[in-house]
Amino acid sequence: MTNKKSYMEEVCYSDNVKKYDLSKPPIKQSKTALLLTRLLSKALLPLLRKGHKLEKINMDGLKPPYILLSNHMQWMDFAVLFDAIYPERFNLVAANHVYYKDYALLEKLGCMCTRKFITDISLVRNCHRVLQEYGDIFAMFPEARYSPDGTQSVLPPAIGKLAKKNKVPVVILINHGNFLNQPFWSHYKFRKVPFYATIKQVLTAEDIENMSIDRINQIIEKEFQYDDYKWQKDNNILITEKYRAHGLHKILYQCPHCMSEGTTTSNGISLTCNRCGKTWEMTELGELKALQGETEFSHIPDWYKWQRENVRKELLDGTYKYSDEVQTYGFPGVYKYFNLGKATVTHDLENGFVLTGNYNGQDYRIHKPVSSLYSLHIEYEFGHLKGIDCFELPTKNDSIYCIPTNEYMVTKLALATEEAFKIVNK
Ligand SMILES: [Zn+2]
Repeated sequence: MTNKKSYMEEVCYSDNVKKYDLSKPPIKQSKTALLLTRLLSKALLPLLRKGHKLEKINMDGLKPPYILLSNHMQWMDFAVLFDAIYPERFNLVAANHVYYKDYALLEKLGCMCTRKFITDISLVRNCHRVLQEYGDIFAMFPEARYSPDGTQSVLPPAIGKLAKKNKVPVVILINHGNFLNQPFWSHYKFRKVPFYATIKQVLTAEDIENMSIDRINQIIEKEFQYDDYKWQKDNNILITEKYRAHGLHKILYQCPHCMSEGTTTSNGISLTCNRCGKTWEMTELGELKALQGETEFSHIPDWYKWQRENVRKELLDGTYKYSDEVQTYGFPGVYKYFNLGKATVTHDLENGFVLTGNYNGQDYRIHKPVSSLYSLHIEYEFGHLKGIDCFELPTKNDSIYCIPTNEYMVTKLALATEEAFKIVNK
């Protein structure tokens, strides 16, 4: 006789846990909502002490409906976006964790809620509603995560399809300086830099009509490229703050000198490997310089990319395998995080993520195959969960936040998720 355990495929909450309907259509923006976004941008943008510039390209005469895609590093991006498209009405996609405590305001502003990195059919329906019924702008931050190294993250392949289906132009808003001002890996400490953004119509309605979905995606991919460190150097922008490297070890977790992982720390303007003792300093132009011997990578995104290549090699040669006991929190609605206690998580190329735990006396097993997750939502010093580093496993009805034993795994898992997806879907 076999004694097979029975698992639930979702965490078993009590029946009275308040859910949030993600499929809820956004409201058509009222004049008051639009005015409120105007007031917010007018109040926030002057706080940028080194100024803010917006350049409009191919935007003359363009009227909604259209799709607006923007890169996103911090809350000031909302002010830039609101300012860039005023006085046109829009509906903006926002992640469920952004709704935490602020859901009433976001609903009034016309936002629509989604869970990151899931197939959300209701979002497709809401996109159609905004463009075809309201005749307004459908706005989103398509990377669905803050860039770790100030360069473009993976874009969802469904964007081209959305544009084609709705036969509307595509506009791209690229912010520069927002990452340097508040890098994802140190987002509680501001660096003084100017902001510069471009808003550009990259595909007209006619282009969309005549091009294949693949071609549309290629153009979006190309136009969405950015590199804030390169922009800093090209524009000779000096970051003089004495804490400018603080937090950098969160993304640069592998030492290129002794190859060890999770041994880097950062302090002031320095990044050091605690294993071999090698130290790099971050210059005022955002470059790295080794204090001893060779500077392996002066450009921070090159170091990050090198780590990505190493993870890819591990996946391909079969040496990549992650297994850990993690602290977990569930976020089924938008109202409360639930402490789910400890759980076991594994990640590899064959099975993707498997999370097993027990809550409310019921065992659960959450499986995210490699092909179901093209990227991973991670957070550094996540304010909603006492400032810890964590990653999120999304399900249809829940967001499970996991805190790994080794902090650096948050970054490595994000790279492994993206590379595994590419390998399986090539
Ligand atoms: Zn080292």
